[in-house]
Amino acid sequence: MLLKSFKGGVHPRYFKDLTSGKSIRKIDPPDRFIIPLIQHTGGPCAPLVGVGDLVKKGQLIGKSDKYISSCVHASTSGKVVLIDKAPHPILGKAQAITIEADGRDEGVKDFSKVRDMGEISPDEIRRKIEEAGIVGLGGAAFPTHVKMTIPENKKVDTIILNGAECEPYLTCDGRLMVERPKDILEGLGLMARAIGVDRAIIAIEDNKPEAIASIEKALQNTQYKIRDTKVVTLATKYPQGGEKQLIAASLGREVPPCGLPFDVGVVVSNAGTALAVYEAISKDKPLFERVVTVSGDCIKEPSNLLVRIGTPIKALIDACGGFKKRPKRLIMGGPMMGVAQTSTEVPVIKGTSGILALSGEFTGGREEGPCIRCARCVDVCPMRLLPTDIVRLARKARYEDAKGLNISDCMECGACTHECPARIPLVQWIRLGKMNIPKG
Ligand code: SF4
Ligand code: SF4
Repeated sequence: MLLKSFKGGVHPRYFKDLTSGKSIRKIDPPDRFIIPLIQHTGGPCAPLVGVGDLVKKGQLIGKSDKYISSCVHASTSGKVVLIDKAPHPILGKAQAITIEADGRDEGVKDFSKVRDMGEISPDEIRRKIEEAGIVGLGGAAFPTHVKMTIPENKKVDTIILNGAECEPYLTCDGRLMVERPKDILEGLGLMARAIGVDRAIIAIEDNKPEAIASIEKALQNTQYKIRDTKVVTLATKYPQGGEKQLIAASLGREVPPCGLPFDVGVVVSNAGTALAVYEAISKDKPLFERVVTVSGDCIKEPSNLLVRIGTPIKALIDACGGFKKRPKRLIMGGPMMGVAQTSTEVPVIKGTSGILALSGEFTGGREEGPCIRCARCVDVCPMRLLPTDIVRLARKARYEDAKGLNISDCMECGACTHECPARIPLVQWIRLGKMNIPKG
């Protein structure tokens, strides 16, 4: 059977078998939490607590008045001991609230109780998503309540559940689809209600047969059933989970350059986000924990862990038995698009899907050679760009010319770098070029 896919892309080694069969394991909260006031796309939060204040799990502790932002909550009960710059996995350092845990882990309420959701309205769903501080958990961390607010001049007819999880090593979404399929589908149904659509596509790559079977079985029995729901099995290819690639593969619609999914009538949400929406609405539970894949050849016992936001990544590595050899690369996220880390003191944030400890480079690593004009980077680019030409211009600081080659459309997937036989760090040059392109 010819599986659905998109044009371009690569087939890296996936290494998912290290954790794909491992059930999600909850780890104990650490003694100290670092809760950054910026963990999302948009404006940073301002603290709502002061040093010395006592807080409880699930208490709102940071909020912004910007439209695009997402509030933050305490991940355990304890005392605020510092509000200052602290290690941040993406920004290096950023303003954060440090909480010393009191060991009681007392919540503002009991988050395990499921309430009857009844005939909840779209506005109520959006409000609860906003109050729970939910963002896209696939890594982009875009505020979900904003995504669920469709501009008046746009018409949306489909929601896609992104179950591709195309980055190597990562299996947290795959495990959630195996272990919590019904709750994910309830969350998807609630999001469909929020945006007023009655068509859903659940898109999963064919390297997750257990997740496909589990979702298909659970589809029979959900409260917020979407009239027209189908599971689409996609070919395993990177970056299948990119929103534009996912829409092209599962619906055959092309998002225009610089456009967004709702320009073609679609909203995309990942599996972990759907679960968070379900928990926010059925249990009034803010986003203070998530599942993280901890993997790589330097980790003793690669695992999928349920961890609190703000937990230093050292605690996750310890919960996996520590390092079995010294890592050369520590990465937050997947190896293709993740962010290199220099310290294990950085905290898990809302967008942390994985912690990888690798003994070598995943892409590149050998000495860079001259471009041999093989055009492999062009063939694999899912955005149909000309990476080699863009990089030639970026190296010469000809950013205006690079703009003419649509450098801004680059999604920084790293497929070109992965494929380049000359080991040219194409995506790094493109990232630099994007930062320097003239505005307007
Ligand atoms: S140019 Fe950008 S979008 Fe194209 S393959 Fe390279 S990183 Fe991906
Ligand atoms: S893949 Fe590498 S060597 Fe081949 S054209 Fe692109 S930049 Fe040049």
